[in-house]
Amino acid sequence: MSDANLFPGARVILVETTHPGNIGAAARAMKNMGLTELVLVNPYKFPDEEAMYRSASAEDVVSSARVVATVDEAIADCQLVIGTSARERRIPWPMLTARECGEKVSAASEAQQTVGLLFGRESRGLKNEELQKCHFHVNIPTGEAYSSLNLAMAVQVICYEILQARLGGHHLPSDESGWDQVFADADAVEHFFGHLEETLVQVGFHDPENPRQLLTRLRRLFNRVRLDQMEVNMLRGFLSAINKLGSDHQS
Ligand code: SAH
Repeated sequence: MSDANLFPGARVILVETTHPGNIGAAARAMKNMGLTELVLVNPYKFPDEEAMYRSASAEDVVSSARVVATVDEAIADCQLVIGTSARERRIPWPMLTARECGEKVSAASEAQQTVGLLFGRESRGLKNEELQKCHFHVNIPTGEAYSSLNLAMAVQVICYEILQARLGGHHLPSDESGWDQVFADADAVEHFFGHLEETLVQVGFHDPENPRQLLTRLRRLFNRVRLDQMEVNMLRGFLSAINKLGSDHQS
């Protein structure tokens, strides 16, 4: 049998899905388009017969799905994280069209990077804090009257574009290959953000009692750059030097 996974490292992540039928339908949409890596964050009801039934001949994708407790766990080793959203958020984020998203994911997989595509809850999508872990957001254009697609249909559109990019040989002229360092994964970046926040508090620049949008905007700044591992190491070293200066100063 030919390999069902045309995009190794590209993972579809469904966050707190309510209806098991949507999990099955999403798995089918994935397999139809050559994707097989499915991660479920805290699903409401899984394993479930309806998920199997709705997946038709993609039962293998459903039964090999990895179940995790948090979005952080799902994306920990991802070097590119893309979130899907049916509506605009207060602080705009770098956006990709569905087509550009397909091109980026296809190219990133080809360059042996790990990619997480986040899909939200049927009722209220992804939380802001989840969307802020992403490098990019994708919105599927719709008629004005109703912008929210069924979850599995959104998975279908995004996966369709990934396969189209591969079939058409389209690549974004970008950073997916030829970079001299490996891109940092979400776990490393999350630790960096934690360290940055502590340091900003230490030096009195950030007041946790009055956070405003400082940390969100800093997240957006660094995610827009798409840090590589060496850059993260340098920034962590820089922060440690500031921490040390602060503690020497106190003593
Ligand atoms: N009522 C929710 C929509 C949830 S739809 C809200 O207002 O946010 C469930 C999921 O399907 C979304 O979280 C997103 O992952 C995906 N989705 C639905 N419509 C989409 C669209 N137009 N563009 C991108 N993703 C969409």
